[in-house]
Amino acid sequence: MNYRSTRNSSLNVSSAHAIVKGLSDEGGLFVPESIPALTKEEILGLGDKKYSDRAYDVFSKYLTDFTPEELKHCVESAYNSKNFDSDNIAEITKLKNGRYILELWHGPTCAFKDMALQILPYLLTTSAKKEVKGKQIAILVATSGDTGKAALEGFKDVDGTSICVFYPEDGVSPMQKRQMTTQDGKNVNVCAVKGNFDDCQNGVKAIFTDKDTENKLSDNNILLSSANSINWGRLAPQIVYYVSSYAQLVKDGQIEYGEKVNIVVPTGNFGNILAAYYAKLMGIPVNKLICASNSNNVLTDFINTGVYDRNRKFYTTVSPSMDILISSNLERLLYHFTGENDSLINEWFTSLKNSGRYEVDENVKKQLSEQFYAGFCSDDETKAQIRKTFEEEHYLLDTHTAVAVKVYEDYRAKTGDATKTIIASTANPYKFGRAVFDAVNGGEQPEDEFELIARLEKATDTKIPAPLAATKDKAVRFTGYVEKQEMTGAVLDFLKS
Ligand SMILES: *Cc1c(COP(=O)(O)O)cnc(C)c1O
Repeated sequence: MNYRSTRNSSLNVSSAHAIVKGLSDEGGLFVPESIPALTKEEILGLGDKKYSDRAYDVFSKYLTDFTPEELKHCVESAYNSKNFDSDNIAEITKLKNGRYILELWHGPTCAFKDMALQILPYLLTTSAKKEVKGKQIAILVATSGDTGKAALEGFKDVDGTSICVFYPEDGVSPMQKRQMTTQDGKNVNVCAVKGNFDDCQNGVKAIFTDKDTENKLSDNNILLSSANSINWGRLAPQIVYYVSSYAQLVKDGQIEYGEKVNIVVPTGNFGNILAAYYAKLMGIPVNKLICASNSNNVLTDFINTGVYDRNRKFYTTVSPSMDILISSNLERLLYHFTGENDSLINEWFTSLKNSGRYEVDENVKKQLSEQFYAGFCSDDETKAQIRKTFEEEHYLLDTHTAVAVKVYEDYRAKTGDATKTIIASTANPYKFGRAVFDAVNGGEQPEDEFELIARLEKATDTKIPAPLAATKDKAVRFTGYVEKQEMTGAVLDFLKS
């Protein structure tokens, strides 16, 4: 299996190369040259396997340059009960009316990013051994909150790597900030940026494409790589849990093999929902892919009209991990929808860069409306959904998952579609304690974050996850912040030390 770039279809590189590089030289994203299929027997067979073996089976179709031993090492180092608080790794909770909540937050940072970032360091160091033997890998991350912490946990103290994380100063929740600024490990750096998430992401992209920085680092035997969701090593692990959840539902007798399901994903950078699309291409029977957004509804408009326009107000919402106006992974979907037409992709994304806008052709619009449904909801609706689900089913949703549930309810009311539905749950509610507390409890909130979550625990008879409780007693290590144009300097300083 080789990989192309969305902006250069004639490129032909190995998965190790794609994972080490993260982003292709001309600015495109790496995509597999074809999507491997899973047979009925393979999907049914997965039902009897543990999660790491399911991951092995999916990876072995994409990472064909890894040896079986290497792959085994990667999946077993990542998906075990030391790193996850559940043997199943991803849990499925059944709600009423054919809804299945796919809980992707049983990892060390209580958000779905762990599903990919627990394994990425192993995929990356294995790839680096093949591609750039002896080089030190420096990971740069722009984060809207969850990626940063998950990447720090994944890479901390991994030999041959270091990691530098940038987050928008006012764009993450207090708990997310606390989780990052108390990070331990000797190869880590965390830095706030005066700006929003897109500023952070653009800053990191600029560092990656700056030859001067590349040369300076290369002189010190350092190679930059990305842990952002544009990296193929982030996406491949996300395909696994969609395949796995389908196999599990069949095994549990919840669905018949071949029965279609809807998949609802609270979406920001379009990585998670793109993985669901890949699972569909691999043979998982999917009816609609439902893309749920908050007030930053650029994707809702895009899927409904074919016009992507980032020239709009940016909202800071109660679901901050979805406060994004440029959804990078959409580029991969469009590459597939255009029949791998790299010149169209270049045209559209140059237009996005220059004017903040592009419009896709009729062919793509048709596929978008056939395969996707898109909707969004406000913060008030998000909180109302948290309250409703808690009151009616005693299940506590986080703010991001609540956006997904609300958009799904709207979809169902509008279409009457009663297809069984998997809803990706992307964070534990305690990560966004204030909004969740407000939703179920209302009234005055204690200032202290830990007092707040203790009260939420009492009010809802649920449990604060151990990794979040543990941050209480940790010292803050990182207090620095920079202007957007100072990000390159911050990276060079950190890597010098
Ligand atoms: C990252 C994140 C999302 C958005 O996922 P994308 O892959 O960027 O679309 C949604 N919810 C939570 C909690 C997240 O951390």
